[in-house]
Amino acid sequence: MAGELEHFRMLIGGKAVGAESGATFESHNPYTGRPWAVVPDGGPADVDTAVAAARASLDGEWGSMTGFARAALLRRLADIVAANAERLARLEVNDSGKLYREMIGQLNGLGGWYQYFAGLADKIEGRQIPSPNPNYLVYTRREPVGVVAAITPWNSPLLLMTWKVAPALAAGCAVVVKPSEHAPVSTLGFAELIEQAEFPPGVVNVITGLSRETGAALAAHPGVDKVAFTGSTATGRAVARAAAENINKVTLELGGKSPQVVFPDADLAAAANGIVAGVFAATGQTCMAGSRLIVHQDVHDELIRLVAERAAKIKLGDPNGADTEMGPVANVPQYQKILGYLQTAKDEGATIACGGAADRGLGGLFVKPTVLTGITPESTVYKEEVFGPVLAALTFTDEDEAIKLANDTPYGLAAAVWTKDVHRAHRVAARIKAGSVWINAYRVVAPSVPFGGFKHSGLGRENGIHAVDEYLEEKAVWVELTGGTRDPFTLG
Ligand code: NAD
Repeated sequence: MAGELEHFRMLIGGKAVGAESGATFESHNPYTGRPWAVVPDGGPADVDTAVAAARASLDGEWGSMTGFARAALLRRLADIVAANAERLARLEVNDSGKLYREMIGQLNGLGGWYQYFAGLADKIEGRQIPSPNPNYLVYTRREPVGVVAAITPWNSPLLLMTWKVAPALAAGCAVVVKPSEHAPVSTLGFAELIEQAEFPPGVVNVITGLSRETGAALAAHPGVDKVAFTGSTATGRAVARAAAENINKVTLELGGKSPQVVFPDADLAAAANGIVAGVFAATGQTCMAGSRLIVHQDVHDELIRLVAERAAKIKLGDPNGADTEMGPVANVPQYQKILGYLQTAKDEGATIACGGAADRGLGGLFVKPTVLTGITPESTVYKEEVFGPVLAALTFTDEDEAIKLANDTPYGLAAAVWTKDVHRAHRVAARIKAGSVWINAYRVVAPSVPFGGFKHSGLGRENGIHAVDEYLEEKAVWVELTGGTRDPFTLG
């Protein structure tokens, strides 16, 4: 019943608003299958208003604020986010079916990102540069790039938004955020906190829209100076093309097909645990999912047994349940995509060590944790991103072959090396082409550590000190020191 649904508003120019057209759409809970929230269906007209509001904030109070003042606002936001972690976690669970216990952990940590970037906001320094001509003093200023479009996917909306918004605000940019049409609500919940933190109006704007045209309009908007995008590689290409049209900066965090490489000397129990964490946590719907298992042939059978035994025991169910380990797939198109990949794997002759099908007994969009063996480098499920709880395993015989297999992908987001041999661990980490390599671990991120992709997994880095650089322009200022005049027809 419509009366039971929660209603949310966008944030534009410091005001909670509906779409200019008055249109709305419903967000569905993938566990219950029912709509639970109503959100504005913003379109290009709302994008125009939000971009104009962001620009106005740069031309106003926000644009003249010091880094120290921005840091204070970011710290206040960090505290407010921490105080509201539970509500934000509930919104994400309702929207995407992710586990409450994962989301509350993520949301409790989210304030840490704003704290970290608050710590950088008052440390953005230019340089004084030696000039070959002694008549000049040269220095640089580092200025905010301007209006940033932050476009996010459905799988971890607030975390991935924060990876953009926190450094952008530290740099002094204004932002227009556009969450996914599949999980828009938590970002609207976050927008309410921006109001509480008392940022000047227009510094952070949040628009939602059902049509993918809304994101496209934002990415291509001539009033935007930089696009920060997380999503699929296909959409990332469209975003990069739109940014190129405006000669805009762009950062892209895209898909992955990350390898977990297990050597015969590895602690197999630890590796099995890391493999389970890498591909079954968050129902495998993470860009960094460790979805390719490349295991030495001598330990293949034992490792598959350990992983399959644990996978078969994973407790599927209500994402709010305290002992639930895997929730449903986040939306119907994704669910159908995963089941399609399972059918293709069977058609191509894969062996199912466990799972391999939907779990229809639970209601909701559940897929059983799946381990596939008998995979070859040509197998579709080995090459393409499934974005679900599906592990594809094959074997290697020596280190060179393991590295060749690990790098045999257009992606390069993440990887893990499992071995007790310290020499081999670092040697292999250096040769794998991926933005993050974990040694004897998986799925760890932090505000201070750069994250991003090689190859088709992305462009630029989020997190870490240099993430702020992605939101800054460098200006060189030349000061003539003699006060004299010079020949107008010579350079220098
Ligand atoms: P998606 O590419 O379909 O959509 C991402 C966002 O882009 C959504 O907000 C969508 O509305 C918007 N969008 C759609 N068309 C657009 C266009 N033409 N121009 C601008 N914006 C547009 O991705 P998704 O299905 O929401 O998310 C899943 C994908 O995201 C997976 O491929 C996954 O690997 C990737 N991902 C990557 C990371 C990372 O950090 N590398 C993290 C999470 C997810």
